[in-house]
Amino acid sequence: MNENIKIDNHQLTTFRIPIKADKISFARWPHEFLQAYQRTKENNQELIILGQGSNVLFLEDFNGEIVVNQYQGIHLTCTQEHFVLQVNSGVTIDELIAYCHRFKIYGLENLASIPSSIGTAAIGNIGAYGVEFEKFVDKVILLDLERGEKITLTHEQLQFSYRSSILKTEYNKGYAVLTVVLKIAKNYQPVLTYYPLTELDKEQVTAKQIQELVVKTRKAKLPDFNQYGNGGSFFVNPIISSIEYQVLKERFNLQGIILNQEQVKLSAGWLIENTGLKGFSFRGAQVSPQHALVLTNREKATGMDIANLAAIVKTKVFEKFGVQLTPEIRFIAKNGEVDASLYLEHLHHN
Ligand SMILES: Cc1cc2nc3c(=O)[nH]c(=O)nc-3n(C[C@H](O)[C@H](O)[C@H](O)COP(=O)(O)OP(=O)(O)OC[C@H]3O[C@@H](n4cnc5c(N)ncnc54)[C@H](O)[C@@H]3O)c2cc1C
Repeated sequence: MNENIKIDNHQLTTFRIPIKADKISFARWPHEFLQAYQRTKENNQELIILGQGSNVLFLEDFNGEIVVNQYQGIHLTCTQEHFVLQVNSGVTIDELIAYCHRFKIYGLENLASIPSSIGTAAIGNIGAYGVEFEKFVDKVILLDLERGEKITLTHEQLQFSYRSSILKTEYNKGYAVLTVVLKIAKNYQPVLTYYPLTELDKEQVTAKQIQELVVKTRKAKLPDFNQYGNGGSFFVNPIISSIEYQVLKERFNLQGIILNQEQVKLSAGWLIENTGLKGFSFRGAQVSPQHALVLTNREKATGMDIANLAAIVKTKVFEKFGVQLTPEIRFIAKNGEVDASLYLEHLHHN
């Protein structure tokens, strides 16, 4: 491969940082993932698959090929109680919601306007406004890139948890998520447990109204990544023990969500805001003045500027509250993904 070919492209990720790789290709069919894998194997290079690029931070130029997932297509069947949708992994959440609404299939609206492909929605078990994607997932079909074989994982085998699944761990490298099979109940039950959806009338509300309110709320709350590049929530909301929570609650009067007798979920955004870092800038990167959990590319930031800012945020939160923040964003270095938490620790010590 010609080493001089470096493609500059800042639209590949929502951080809107120019990314250089040896090759950028598109996969419209499963065999194109395999071809990309073969090319990189022959050249002793790395391969990374991207969907909407909304969950990744490239720290430096990438030694290898980026393949952008454009595998489209939705196939609909049904059983007595469910709609069954086979959705190829390059379809986006909003495209899927629009498709569903044409057939009067409802339930996904709480996830509206998350910039996610369906493959990654399953990988990271996306969630918003009281709904997690796993609720609808029946199976996932993967492609083993080394063997060229398909593997099917059932809901149980996928081991979904908060913003994670087995696709993020055991099947993280050497596999492409091809298709997600969804089962959506015909008997639609709106989920209105999260503000501002709590304001809607459960008896009268339509799925369209939920979608519109979610989109409007997100627009008002989150910075637009076309203006200030970002990856949404930079850190996951930390889960701590009930004992730790009692101590923090007494000292700082913070409010957690009790998950069970042993565990409490805190708001990472609240912790960052209460270290006084909202609006804080490091070079071209900034803790969004609109939402402290979002780190933005304010002006020509590099991936390293954003990572350095994240390291400052993580350190400050730990110093004040003793709580470790874990990145939700996945870090990509020159030879592939690196452990984002370890990377931030390393930056802190240097
Ligand atoms: C403004 C904004 C708001 C957001 N709001 C939310 C929210 O409310 N809730 C939420 O949960 N998340 C949210 N996110 C995070 C993000 O949208 C999700 O994590 C999403 O699922 C990422 O999808 P993607 O297609 O962009 O993945 P990418 O960033 O393209 O990829 C993520 C990772 O998956 C791998 N990958 C991608 N496709 C495949 C494939 N087909 N096979 C194998 N590996 C693959 C990539 O290599 C990469 O490591 C938000 C992000 C932004 C920018």
